[in-house]
This record gives sequence, structure tokens and C-alpha cells, in this order.
Amino acid sequence: MRCALCSEKAVINNLCKTHFIEWFERKALKTIKDFNMINDEDRIAVAVSGGKDSNALLWILNKYYNQCNQSHTSKKTENRIVAIAVDEGIRGYRNLLLKNLKEFTNKLGIALRVYSFEQEFGKPLDKIIKKTDFKNSGLKPCSVCGVFRRYLLNKHSKGFDKLATAHNLDDEAQSIIMNIFSGNKQLLQRIGPITSKQPGMVQRIKPFYFLKEKEVATYSFFNKLMPSFKECPYAYGYRSKIVELINNLEVSKPGFKENIVKAFLKLKQKLPEQSFENYCKRCGEPSSKEICKACEMVEKIVKK
Ligand code: SF4
Ligand code: ZN
Repeated sequence: MRCALCSEKAVINNLCKTHFIEWFERKALKTIKDFNMINDEDRIAVAVSGGKDSNALLWILNKYYNQCNQSHTSKKTENRIVAIAVDEGIRGYRNLLLKNLKEFTNKLGIALRVYSFEQEFGKPLDKIIKKTDFKNSGLKPCSVCGVFRRYLLNKHSKGFDKLATAHNLDDEAQSIIMNIFSGNKQLLQRIGPITSKQPGMVQRIKPFYFLKEKEVATYSFFNKLMPSFKECPYAYGYRSKIVELINNLEVSKPGFKENIVKAFLKLKQKLPEQSFENYCKRCGEPSSKEICKACEMVEKIVKK
């Protein structure tokens, strides 16, 4: 099949490599503009993991800022974008991705700040998992990891105007379904291309919000941003079942993922705004209870 816009071979979405890259960048930049994600003087913290999605996000934001720098004399990219990574402490996985990430950010001239579970909470995830009785605690490695990751990203992006994440359409469709099933109203509030302004919380922006996982992976591949593939050894459980369910529904009903996300965005306008009215008595981070979830988990499973 030929590209819809030229005589080259079509590779994805009826487009050749060159036209797909152009289409992808236009779509991400349109999302940034439509939702007013980035203002002229904003300083952005970009949440990176060393994986293909966040590498692509850093690449595209770097390109966007370089274009802005050329068109007007604003501050340089290196002052306006900083990459923030979390080192959970997963040997044979995150340490390898972080090594590549250092080279990548150096190449782009973007500062990289890494915050580790070990430094912040006292133990790396490998040790926490070894010591935790997951069967009886009702917890899963990913739920512990997710709470600590979100905590560190919010804490260390303070002082920036926005925290950009590489969440794509597939991630959002999965999160919507998972949070609806578990009745998690607070997490549902965090879904959306840009989160609302809340005291103590850095506003999150998601430029890949309307791009599918497959499209982000293809863009990464074409720009040589794919790390040599490695999967987290703890990646199993509930989310992978939801991924399978949604992918099957997408095959039988194309457009399913986009429809879930668009329907949810309409519904979200009718949901009352949830805010963290308290600050954790131990660490001072925003929390819905007296003690935040991260401090509660440190007490319950890390200090044991
Ligand atoms: Fe953490 Fe789970 Fe992701 Fe592994 S798969 S990095 S444990 S959230
Ligand atoms: Zn706390």
C-alpha cells in the first residue's frame, strides 16, 4: 500500500515514515495548544523512565522548545526542561534503562535528576518486595511502586510550572476502566490531558493523550529512541488483564479506546472537583488523610 500523501510505501495509518512523523508531531503539538498546556515562560519537569514513551516525549518537547527559541528570544531549552526520573531499585531493569537515559539526556543537553526509593524511603523496591508478604497484605508490587513513584514525582517537580508525562490513549483508557471498577474518585480526577491547579500538587500535562501506544512506539522506533527491550520483572497482574480486555475490544470495535477516553472527558466535567484538603502530618505532602499513603506504606512495609 502507498502513503496517502506521496508515492512512498505506507507503514502505519496509511502514511509513510516521513509523513507519519510529521502527523505524529502535529497531533502532539495540537494537544499542547488545544489544552493550553505550555505557556511561554513555563519551566517543565518531564517525567522520564528511560522507556520508549518518555524518550519520545523528551525528544518532542526538546524539538518544540528549540523551535520556540528560534522564533523568539526566550530562555534556552536547558533552563526550561528538566528530566526527572525515579530509580525504584530494580536490578537488571531500571539501572540499565537509567544508564541509557543518562546518555540520551546528555546528547540532548537536558539536565537529568534521579530520585531513588532507597534514598527517600530507606530501601530499594527489590528489597521491599523480598520482605513483603503480598498474599496477606492485599498489596501488589505495582501498587506500592506506583504510590512511591507518584509521590516522588510530585515532590521533586515542585518549583516547576508543569509536570509532563508520557501517558498515551491506551494508558488513559486502562486507568479510566480500572478506577471506575475500583470506585477511586480521587484518581479519576487526575485523569485528563491536563490536571486542575491544586495546592501542593504540580499540574500534570499529557501531550500524547490522543496518541495510541502503537503510534508512540512507531514514532520512537523511527527516531531510534527505543531502548533494547526489557520488561520490569514485577509487571504482572490486574493492569495486564485490563490491557488484554481493552485490546480485544479495540479489535472487534475499532475506536473503542478513543471513545472511552472522550466519553470520560465529557463525564468528568460533571464530577465535583476533588482536592486534597490536608497535608500529611509526617512529610507535609498533600494528602486526603492525616498521614499520606506513601508515609503509611513506609511504616507498614518498608520499616518492617
Ligand atoms: Fe513499578 Fe510495576 Fe512499573 Fe515495575 S511494572 S516499574 S513494579 S509500576
Ligand atoms: Zn507523608
